[in-house]
Amino acid sequence: MKVKEHCGIVGVYADNSPMISYESLKLLQHRGQESAGITYRKDGSLVTMKGLGLVEEALDPRLLPNAKLSIGHVRYSTTGKGSLDEAQPLSNGKIAIAFNGTITNYFKFGTSTDTEFILKVLSEAPNIKEGIRRLVDLADGAYSLVVLTNEGELIGFRDPKGFRPLVLGKINNGYIIASEDSVIRQLGGKPLRDVKPGEMIYIKDGEIESEVISRDRVSFCSFEYIYFARPDSIIDGVSVYNSRIKLGEILAENHGVDADVAIPVPESSIPIAIGFSRKSKIPMEYGLIRTLVAKRSFIMPTQDKRNAVLEEKFGIVKSVVENKKVVVIDDSIVRGNTMRKIVRMIRDNGAKEVHVRIGSPKVKYPCYMGIDFPLSKELIASEKDEKEIAKYIGADSVEFLTVEEMIKAIGRPDLCHACFSGVYPLKFSYNLQVLESIFKKVS
Ligand code: SF4
Repeated sequence: MKVKEHCGIVGVYADNSPMISYESLKLLQHRGQESAGITYRKDGSLVTMKGLGLVEEALDPRLLPNAKLSIGHVRYSTTGKGSLDEAQPLSNGKIAIAFNGTITNYFKFGTSTDTEFILKVLSEAPNIKEGIRRLVDLADGAYSLVVLTNEGELIGFRDPKGFRPLVLGKINNGYIIASEDSVIRQLGGKPLRDVKPGEMIYIKDGEIESEVISRDRVSFCSFEYIYFARPDSIIDGVSVYNSRIKLGEILAENHGVDADVAIPVPESSIPIAIGFSRKSKIPMEYGLIRTLVAKRSFIMPTQDKRNAVLEEKFGIVKSVVENKKVVVIDDSIVRGNTMRKIVRMIRDNGAKEVHVRIGSPKVKYPCYMGIDFPLSKELIASEKDEKEIAKYIGADSVEFLTVEEMIKAIGRPDLCHACFSGVYPLKFSYNLQVLESIFKKVS
């Protein structure tokens, strides 16, 4: 059973809405590659199509009718096989939801997944707006969601702490709500603004309303800037690309190393390496080549699948590393397996030294707000220091940013950093050992 989700979502009120959702999901593919789904409203009924795999494998666009309203979802599953049952949107025929996040306390309400919990709360309310208000009262954690009803209502909502991104835009004389603004721009639409933390956007018959249901101390996921979001996205006014450049600059300033060449682990760490290279004056080379078929290994649900993906994922440009002191730049180290293989490949290709610099702090704690980090014991940094990590991955040295350096680089003070610091910015308090055992049991 899976409870943790990291996903991409979209909701569209416009002519040809299902096709716009389909195209949006393709552009949100980096947020989840295990399954994809669309629910559209046709003649007062909700119809859901979903499948496993990439959007183009999971959905047949020829089957999508012209309709005015739809929502869509791409997901990665956290453990297990990634079955179709758990693909979203989840619909009961009257209400369909697509959700990005984790409801941290869903298990207290007797449903088997957090998505079911949301659907239950919304279904039991007298109307959808009241359902969202009840959800905010009951739920803790991260939940950006889009909702479609058979009465023709489209809702976008971002949890009061605003953990996950959600953007409102115009498209095709209508509206679009999507996880990232880059998607809206790429489709020829116009992003209007971020949905505010705690804000409900309600669209019916082309009329749009907004209601801030609840305000809280904002705690946006720093990992969206470090890894998850597209570099061409702007979240709450902060450019993901510029944040990554700055992470690299500060990494060079405070964690420098004597090296001949800096090599990014593509794709997400390329801007970090650009910043590192600019500041350190160590030339950046494209020495590690990601093959086109490679999926992101971190978001594959099982270790077997991750290993299989890793094997075929990278090639090395021998002339870039041979007889060189190499510094490898990556955005994060979670389990350490990917980096271990990369270091070995670079050494096998004749590097004299291999150093590793990471554009984020050490990931030491699990995330209960929507990112599938493993539990503590699988996180390489949970108990190992830099020397021990270097030894494990086979590097001459490894250094990470501190939490303070990361916050400075991203440039917004209202960031969640629980996976680095262990300080969980949740509404209710939990015994973290109990929480870990619950998530472990259900995962
Ligand atoms: S714990 Fe880490 S991954 Fe989870 S929401 Fe906070 S910053 Fe993001």
